[in-house]
Amino acid sequence: MERYDAIVIGGGHNGLVAAAYLARAGRRTLVLERREILGGAAVTEEVWPGWSVSTASYVCSLLHPQIIAELNLPAFGYHAYRKEPASFTPLLDGRSLLLGSDAVDNALEIGSFDRRDILGFEAFDAEATRLGSALADAFDLDDPATARFEDATQRALAGSAADLVERFVRTPVLRATLASDGVIGTYAGPRDAGTGYVLAHHYAGRAMGAQGAWGFVRGGMGAVSRAIALAARRAGAQFRTGAPVARILVRDGRVSGVALDDGTEFEADTILSNAHPSVTFGELLTASEVPPTIASKLKSWRSEGVSLKLNLALGELPDFTARPGVTPQLHHRATIHVAPSIDYLQAAHDDAHRGGVSNAPMLECFMQTPTDPSLAPPGKHLLSIFAQYYPYHRGDGVWDDTKREAAADSIVATLAQFASNLPNAIEARQILAPPDLEARFGLTGGHIFHGELLPGQILGDRFPVATGVAGLYLCGSGASPGGCVSGIPGLRAAGAVLGSLAVA
Ligand SMILES: Cc1cc2nc3c(=O)[nH]c(=O)nc-3n(C[C@H](O)[C@H](O)[C@H](O)COP(=O)(O)OP(=O)(O)OC[C@H]3O[C@@H](n4cnc5c(N)ncnc54)[C@H](O)[C@@H]3O)c2cc1C
Repeated sequence: MERYDAIVIGGGHNGLVAAAYLARAGRRTLVLERREILGGAAVTEEVWPGWSVSTASYVCSLLHPQIIAELNLPAFGYHAYRKEPASFTPLLDGRSLLLGSDAVDNALEIGSFDRRDILGFEAFDAEATRLGSALADAFDLDDPATARFEDATQRALAGSAADLVERFVRTPVLRATLASDGVIGTYAGPRDAGTGYVLAHHYAGRAMGAQGAWGFVRGGMGAVSRAIALAARRAGAQFRTGAPVARILVRDGRVSGVALDDGTEFEADTILSNAHPSVTFGELLTASEVPPTIASKLKSWRSEGVSLKLNLALGELPDFTARPGVTPQLHHRATIHVAPSIDYLQAAHDDAHRGGVSNAPMLECFMQTPTDPSLAPPGKHLLSIFAQYYPYHRGDGVWDDTKREAAADSIVATLAQFASNLPNAIEARQILAPPDLEARFGLTGGHIFHGELLPGQILGDRFPVATGVAGLYLCGSGASPGGCVSGIPGLRAAGAVLGSLAVA
């Protein structure tokens, strides 16, 4: 039987980060990934010949600068660039709102709706940046349970995204554009308590060099995972893909290795699991091996996904009524929101909560091909649509092909209200509803963050990296600070194994 110092179950980007740090510290490390491709939900896949699709995650912000620097990711091909402009929200009346990093441009855009919101937007941006920065600092703590915030910050995180935004601005489309960050991946509406945290989480990133800024990664999100994997490989880590782990082996109360589905066993005294907590504790261990505190957390863990990813191969760019043209323009580079008002977003949530899916969905659409044409055949474009709310458990029956196609048709029709050439521009489409995200990426319940990022499941209330089973560590998004492509759970788990976060 092969023996390693450490085995990482799952080659998501967090597992790869953990493996890289362990290998750099001289530990003989093996990564076992169930899929044929490394990266988990941070992958670039050739879905159609000649098309390189970021099938799950598509934009980057939270990847920790410490990881980028210490693993020297640029030397392994990582290159990220800021998304500029940041957002474009078209309206049915032909108006639209385009926001970016330039204060003068923003003032012109916002002023065309309501001049009073120009300063309000600047104040909101400063507040969201302050909250994001406070979170980013908390993410660096050895023990996230020790995170303390001043009262105003605590209130903002516990409150709703709508409350946060409405304190500063009044224009409905501006409010909705800003509040949408508060519901990404989350089975809650913008008026629901705790979505203030989700909004701040989306401002916690520093990868683009500016607090809260988001960007694209050249080559798609798989380039993040590839760079980390190469750094890990350079340090000596080994990988096996197509290697689903069936069991974590426990002897006399401490881990002793793992067994694959095909019965192959590997020995190690240290096991790190990048898998969802429900897989790690509910499938890979027997109930009697799981510590009671973990078992009780697992029982109440909320991990029902509501996000549907629709990847579209386009023959031409969307021609927006608000900003006409099919040659690349600034707004094609931005996140394109279908979010006319907070009431619209809340109704999208409430429809699903009542037992179906959103009648009029919230959409966040991204196109990387205007800035990275290498991802599609010449002259063609990729459009990724992140749509909510499409719960894993639909009240109106299980997900089947008819429901998948109907959801995709409704999403396309929703966006086509603003860009009427869209339906005819589509050459192929990939529909990933929550059960598909579960089957493809191993995201239990289809939850993009391995469980809600709402109070009760944040910071010290996520699963601990040191699980209480001797030798077993959680290194995926079930641990603090949770989901997004940050690498931080992997870094923290490696730090726990090695005894310190300063493992450079
Ligand atoms: C549709 C979608 C869009 C998103 N958009 C963004 C975005 O734009 N930006 C962003 O920052 N974040 C985004 N996210 C969230 C982000 O991608 C995830 O939070 C993050 O990638 C999770 O990384 P991870 O390493 O913790 O886990 P994962 O990526 O889930 O990796 C876990 C790995 O473990 C493997 N595994 C599971 N069980 C086993 C087993 N038994 N044996 C072997 N291997 C196993 C899985 O196959 C997988 O590769 C998005 C997620 C989704 C799904």
